[in-house]
Amino acid sequence: MDTSLQHTDVAIIGAGPVGLFAVFECGMLAMRCRVFDALDVHGGQCAALYPEKPIYDIPGHPRIDAGLLVDRLVEQAAPFAPIYHLGHAVTELDQTADGFVVTNAAGVRVAARAVVIAAGGGAFGPNRPPLTGIEGYEGSSVFYLVRRREDFRGKRIVIAGGGDSAVDWALALKDIARVAVVHRRPKFRAAPESAAQLEAAAQKGEIEMVIPYQLHALHGAGGTLAEVEVATLQGETRRLPADVLLPFFGLSMDLGPIAAWGLESDLHHVKIDPATCQTSLPGVFAIGDVVTYPGKLKLILQGFSEAAVAAQAIFGVVHPGEALHFEYSTTKGIP
Ligand SMILES: Cc1cc2nc3c(=O)[nH]c(=O)nc-3n(C[C@H](O)[C@H](O)[C@H](O)COP(=O)(O)OP(=O)(O)OC[C@H]3O[C@@H](n4cnc5c(N)ncnc54)[C@H](O)[C@@H]3O)c2cc1C
Repeated sequence: MDTSLQHTDVAIIGAGPVGLFAVFECGMLAMRCRVFDALDVHGGQCAALYPEKPIYDIPGHPRIDAGLLVDRLVEQAAPFAPIYHLGHAVTELDQTADGFVVTNAAGVRVAARAVVIAAGGGAFGPNRPPLTGIEGYEGSSVFYLVRRREDFRGKRIVIAGGGDSAVDWALALKDIARVAVVHRRPKFRAAPESAAQLEAAAQKGEIEMVIPYQLHALHGAGGTLAEVEVATLQGETRRLPADVLLPFFGLSMDLGPIAAWGLESDLHHVKIDPATCQTSLPGVFAIGDVVTYPGKLKLILQGFSEAAVAAQAIFGVVHPGEALHFEYSTTKGIP
């Protein structure tokens, strides 16, 4: 990992849909971006929480799956050659004579003239089950979110949890994989119709229900899982053959360090001037779900608009003294 100081015009914290669109808007105004995310994939909530759900209120797309919207945003940003630093949360923001230095948990340090906080509800992190050695299987046999259903075709999958994600993914994967669902009690906290579908699938033998059990231990070698051991509260154990474990105990979101940067905020949201999207710290802007102002809607389309507003204001920070002539994309084209 290169920990020497790297340089860019704009550092964007958050590669959710709004942070990704900010790359495009800044790029159209000839500003280079580096983008940080705690998740190791692009897309924020769209990727982590609902990649295969259709969204109906993106202008010009009567219906688009959240994962596909993210792919399109990455494609739209690509001509501007953004550099992504994924998989580690930003921990520090330091002011310098001509801007800021942003540092992430892996020690990557980037100097930027302006910073855009597009951190949504905060850095995503999985609620990990307390199993010895689980880190060694993460990314190879243990996954906290499913990006592409097809990656799991033909596998033996143990899903743990009792909420919507556990139930929805059990139903979505049962036709292409062998699925066992481990839950500590018979009642699921999922949408009632999904829970009923799960019950019906279990009765048809399409899904194995492992109830009332909890995860107990993992068995395998070199990051490849062979069995998941489960136990009842009374200590009775069972071993389930498995290639993959999907523990769905929720994702925690943590504004964490951002809350300590001294920006004016209100109930865990950063206050901005909606005319520029600048925060109380000049040179630091914020857009998307993380912000608050009168009339703010937590919608992707409003975050997109904020990205455009912020880029116009950031131009004056990155290119002081240069006049900005407003131009349509149709006039300008993509560089
Ligand atoms: C189930 C569901 C359905 C939805 N349906 C719709 C819909 O139909 N239409 C609609 O408009 N909206 C919908 N939304 C809301 C929409 O997803 C959000 O408005 C949108 O994701 C906000 O985008 P964002 O880029 O601001 O933040 P996020 O998508 O939350 O992305 C923020 C990113 O910042 C990262 N981050 C935060 N802090 C740090 C840090 N310190 N260091 C590094 N990275 C950090 C996070 O890991 C995350 O990836 C839905 C939300 C959910 C949960």
